[in-house]
Amino acid sequence: MRKIQMVDLQAQFEEIQPELMGAFDQILTNTAFINGPDVQAFKTELSDYLGGVHVVPCANGTDALQIAMMALGLKPGDKVLAPSFTYVATAEVAALLGLELVFCDVDPQTFNICPNSAASILEKEDIKAIVPVHLFGQSANMDAVMALAKQYGCFVVEDMAQAIGSFYQGDSATGFAGTIGHASGTSFFPSKNLGCYGDGGAVLSPDADLAARMQMIANHGQSALYYHDVVGVNSRLDTLQAAVLRIKLRRLLDYTRARQKAAATYDARLGNIDGLHIPVRDPKSTHVFHQYTLTLSRPGRTELMKFLESQGIPVKIYYPVPLHLQKAYNHQGYTPGAFPVSEKLCDHVLSLPMHTHLQAEQLDFIGDKIRSWFATH
Ligand SMILES: *Cc1c(COP(=O)(O)O)cnc(C)c1O
Repeated sequence: MRKIQMVDLQAQFEEIQPELMGAFDQILTNTAFINGPDVQAFKTELSDYLGGVHVVPCANGTDALQIAMMALGLKPGDKVLAPSFTYVATAEVAALLGLELVFCDVDPQTFNICPNSAASILEKEDIKAIVPVHLFGQSANMDAVMALAKQYGCFVVEDMAQAIGSFYQGDSATGFAGTIGHASGTSFFPSKNLGCYGDGGAVLSPDADLAARMQMIANHGQSALYYHDVVGVNSRLDTLQAAVLRIKLRRLLDYTRARQKAAATYDARLGNIDGLHIPVRDPKSTHVFHQYTLTLSRPGRTELMKFLESQGIPVKIYYPVPLHLQKAYNHQGYTPGAFPVSEKLCDHVLSLPMHTHLQAEQLDFIGDKIRSWFATH
């Protein structure tokens, strides 16, 4: 059995190594490091993969969210609503743009934005944009988010960094994660479901005019060479990374299936343990399993983690502290109890190794060790 890792990129690399080296060789020979042909080709191929949405490649997922918010014309003081149980990037870019971040709670089953919690805040505050996060690989409740956005007149900026390829089949909203709202941001960080070998990201929009604005902002606000119409940023996907992404995009469906297969094996091994809950699937969304996240409904998470680590099984807590209680983002003076579901999840979730090359014997080993711990504690 290979050494178990949270994310193992080695086996995947070996499979694509010859193809990668060929592509790298060509880029290095042509010295087309910035905006080479692979960047343009990747843009088109990702757009095709996601049903025709406009794609603007950029330097990372955090920049993508920032560019989306800038392109929508959000101004200092404008309020942005985001779930508290998520990665920090959303909060960070809002703060950098001088936007006022307002949090809401998440759904205890799907871990995604809770429409009731969001509605109660939209009722009281003048929110300009909602940022649903498709956490761990499953689309947020986009029927509800889009209905709320319409009712309260706000933009929707999807954070789909963890859910590329997830498909949402709602009653009114339908499409791939990241293609339903006004704009979205995604990340190609190496450990993401579609990851490059460094930093990378993309901003997406179904709206051609908005996408053109995003393209301009990502390139110094430039409408023509040395003509700057708006304040922009320098955020590019470099050609070497685009080449990696093109090669991996061709395999993304297989990668997703491999993750789903690993998740199904985990389900079968862990589905009937007292005090342990396997990930709940939203019937309206496919799950692309960026993470396989368990919830403990009993104490002992720290001891379980220590035990698993002692057995050579890495595990991680995504995320240990909700954003509303983080020092940098608690300007509103939130106190514990403000968003009870987010707080409870931070204390009870545990993510298992998840990647495209988990071996059957590794999954069996992990399942056996977890079962044995619950049987004896
Ligand atoms: C990874 C991630 C980001 C940021 O992406 P980077 O490429 O690391 O900047 C944003 N949001 C979520 C939910 C993420 O998981």
